[in-house]
Amino acid sequence: MPPTSPEPADYRVNPAWHDLSGLVTTAAERPERVIASPIDGAELGRAPICRPQDVELAGRRARAAGRRWAAEPLSRRRGVIERFKDLLAAERDDMLDLIHAENGKSRTDALEEFLDVLLTAGYYAAKAPKVLRRHRRRAALPLLTSTYVHYVAKGVVGVITPWNYPLTLAAADAVPALLAGNGVILKPDSQTPLTALRLVELLRQAGLPEDLMQVVTGPGGQLGRPIIDASDYVMFTGSTATGRTVAAHCGERLIGCGAELGGKNALIVMSDAPLGRAVAGAVQACFANSGQLCISVERIYVARPLFEAFASAFADRAAGLVLGGGGGWEVDMGPLISQGQLDKVVEHVDDAVSKGATVLTGGRRRPDLGELFYEPTVLTGVTDAMTLAREETFGPVVALYPVDSEDQAVALANDSEYGLNASVWTSSPTRGRAVAERLRAGTVNINEGYAAAYGSTDAPMGGFGISGLGRRHGAEGLIKYTEPQTVALQRLALIGPPAWATRPAYAEAMTVGSKWLHVTAGELVRKVAGR
Ligand code: NAD
Repeated sequence: MPPTSPEPADYRVNPAWHDLSGLVTTAAERPERVIASPIDGAELGRAPICRPQDVELAGRRARAAGRRWAAEPLSRRRGVIERFKDLLAAERDDMLDLIHAENGKSRTDALEEFLDVLLTAGYYAAKAPKVLRRHRRRAALPLLTSTYVHYVAKGVVGVITPWNYPLTLAAADAVPALLAGNGVILKPDSQTPLTALRLVELLRQAGLPEDLMQVVTGPGGQLGRPIIDASDYVMFTGSTATGRTVAAHCGERLIGCGAELGGKNALIVMSDAPLGRAVAGAVQACFANSGQLCISVERIYVARPLFEAFASAFADRAAGLVLGGGGGWEVDMGPLISQGQLDKVVEHVDDAVSKGATVLTGGRRRPDLGELFYEPTVLTGVTDAMTLAREETFGPVVALYPVDSEDQAVALANDSEYGLNASVWTSSPTRGRAVAERLRAGTVNINEGYAAAYGSTDAPMGGFGISGLGRRHGAEGLIKYTEPQTVALQRLALIGPPAWATRPAYAEAMTVGSKWLHVTAGELVRKVAGR
């Protein structure tokens, strides 16, 4: 049985959390939902159950404020984000308390998302001038045309987020959308609105205009459509099923959307892997945030010669994780977020066991710690007949499989409709990169589970296949919130046959010119030299 934290639920309920509901946009008084901690069910605060009229109001306010904001110099927008970063850093302990209490995750897991937001805000504040700068592009006709591109804010960006990383996933998309000059309507998940509201409160304290970032809370099924109707671009993070609905509605309106969806992420332990590090990294990759992490690992393929040693060390280490509801640094794993989430985990494990899977460790609820605790669980003997072989569990459950070759590991890792994240463990960086590039996943970590790629904020992050559309992070994560506009100035002559040339002569000259226009100097030399 895993060790447990001596203090099951020692977080402090801050009375100020009750005031956060006042930041939600409502057109009239609305009934409120109690926000209860998954650790012990205690009330932390409340949030209005918004109606479509509230979203319409939020849209109007965000649009009007967005027009003024887009006209501000970028330096002012960056200044707000820089100040927000400083305020957030100063509020670290309170923010960790809130994330821990509202989501249930351990303090270390809460720290991971807190640090991610500091990094993301700092990155985009620093990067925006370069990415969004007006710049020249190669023009239609050399000397006669001059062409530049500049980036126009979309207008209003709808940001719909899940409960598993309530701070990171709201900030990672809202901050670049704001920097690009947009208004934002944020709809956090109904289970974790307080963290998102605290984020907005800090942004406003940092100088964000009051109306620019609107928050609506309530059921996604009722608010999703109005949010899409009020937006010019939608950034959705959540399940693949909901992502399809959101993308379909955006398609009807012909507005763009980004979707960061589910995963069934694979980790490969190659025959030359450093075993100790691989075990430690795999445990982190599978059980961080109680496995409720889109990029966490649910399938591990181990080179057969290492399988026994890996499986035994991995199961031992997983069994040693400290479970508990305490807010101290000693806790490794908190509860699951909800009864629904726990039911899914129990269903997946029971189904696998009933069909012949072996439990190396875990496989049990822990009611002694609270309603929603489940042990880190390691399975072997998982077959395709079992639900969890292919479906995302989104909990602390992983299946181990022996493999006989690199090719087999790659083929099995790729045998999924999902393609979000992957991990490869090897002593050879060259071999690791070669395998990584054969994997169909938006991010691949070599000798790390997920943090190396996700933490590389300058590089795009997103999914292949049914794991998503588009990318967050990097320049891609900022430009998507703009409409790139091309402005071309033509001098002296129009583009088309000039009066002084015959049309056949023009056709001849332009055919040769068009053929050679984009040829590089090197190619030109090679062509002239006949090579
Ligand atoms: P979910 O799809 O049920 O809910 C996500 C959000 O969508 C919530 O705010 C919800 O209220 C809203 N929503 C629900 N129905 C809607 C509708 N019809 N229209 C618009 N919005 C609607 O997802 P979840 O269960 O809360 O989150 C877990 C899932 O999210 C997992 O599959 C996980 O892998 C995925 N996820 C992906 C990433 C990523 O970056 N790829 C990150 C975190 C979570």
